[in-house]
Amino acid sequence: MKNRQFEKSFSKERLISPKRIIAADVTTGKTIWLTDKIFPQHFYPLSIKEYCEAIKKGVKEGIEKIPILSVSSKDIPYCDFNCVDCLACPSREWAISDNHIKYPIIPIELYKKVLKEISRYSKERGCENVRFELCGEGNPDLYKDRIEMIKFATQECGMKIVYVSTGSKMSEELIDCLAHYASCIRISFPGISTTAYEVYSGQVVRNSFEYDDAIRLVEKLCEKRKQYGREDELLIGTRTCIRPLNDGHYTDFLETVGRFGVDAFQAVKVLTPEYGKHQSQSMTCQAISELLELKENYRKFGISSFQIPNDLSKIYNDRSLREEVKPSRCWSSLVSPPLYGTNLMCCVLWDRITDLSYHYGVMEGNIGELETMMNGANAKFIKENCPKNCKDCCAYNDNKFMDSLWKVLKVQDNLDNIEFFFEY
Ligand code: SF4
Ligand code: SF4
Repeated sequence: MKNRQFEKSFSKERLISPKRIIAADVTTGKTIWLTDKIFPQHFYPLSIKEYCEAIKKGVKEGIEKIPILSVSSKDIPYCDFNCVDCLACPSREWAISDNHIKYPIIPIELYKKVLKEISRYSKERGCENVRFELCGEGNPDLYKDRIEMIKFATQECGMKIVYVSTGSKMSEELIDCLAHYASCIRISFPGISTTAYEVYSGQVVRNSFEYDDAIRLVEKLCEKRKQYGREDELLIGTRTCIRPLNDGHYTDFLETVGRFGVDAFQAVKVLTPEYGKHQSQSMTCQAISELLELKENYRKFGISSFQIPNDLSKIYNDRSLREEVKPSRCWSSLVSPPLYGTNLMCCVLWDRITDLSYHYGVMEGNIGELETMMNGANAKFIKENCPKNCKDCCAYNDNKFMDSLWKVLKVQDNLDNIEFFFEY
């Protein structure tokens, strides 16, 4: 076990830099399972280790003892941007029409009850700090009680806040609150140059929040983080989508945000299949060579985590789920069910959001309601139909690693001897 790292708690740097995770029998030193598909930014400030421990708990004590580790909350269905290829537009129209979602904007007192209930459920199952991601189905800056909500979630529920936004409507107070309480702030850039930002953000009020404003915001967040002495615990990241007008700007962008102290950069593919034009569109040679070069030397800009798609041939991210690779169960719907208003759901795919049979139920924040909901009639329906009837999957990698670990742990004689280790 000499080269394996065992640490009770991990610093920011340790959390975003492991290369793989191993399950080993500590009595024999034998590795029984491993994966190098660990995507640290995806789990931060938790790590894949917590997910492995949750699966182990499920094998030992039963699936109903698996904690909710992460919730992505969609609590505001409005946005000041009108981005090209926005994923949220169709589902948020559905959400606010005909009262499909009871509380598209959650009243703060109800929100607090819901947060308490989620954290109670998970603490009783061994997870003290639920990852709570605020990403809206719109701009999370627009939720009027955001500061009160964040303080309650962190101080009263022990939750770890991940805040994802363009930041276009962040008040000074919200910037201050996030620098003080959040675990991760990720600023989304529709484009990474003045022109790309203007074109891809599609703002109705022309140029109301420009590329330079977004850059200044990132700088301010980094300064505030320093002011609060939180450089070791608050991860600040940036994300953009790989689109033609970004070509030739990735290096300048990384140099600029790296200078401020930004930790992470992520470039993702377009995700909307209905815009048929993307399906066969190739990435340009310029984008491919720039991204690959940066993958080799991003650290020279002070960036610790750099994430780009593995396959750079196409611009569109195909998430179709082929029969032969379907996992035995949708694990992500157990450990990371999203919250849309107060509706707890199995996942964020459009056809799952807009079909209420795939919602566990509507939370009211009553103590014990999650035990009922996660084992109720809809939970049974989800278990029976997901992934069996899923054509696409937004959590394929998560489901794949949890399924393979589950199968390996199921045949172990003594799970008390199995521990998880990172390799760096
Ligand atoms: S900022 Fe996000 S939610 Fe708003 S339009 Fe753009 S992609 Fe959609
Ligand atoms: S699409 Fe994937 S994440 Fe969503 S319910 Fe189906 S298997 Fe689960």
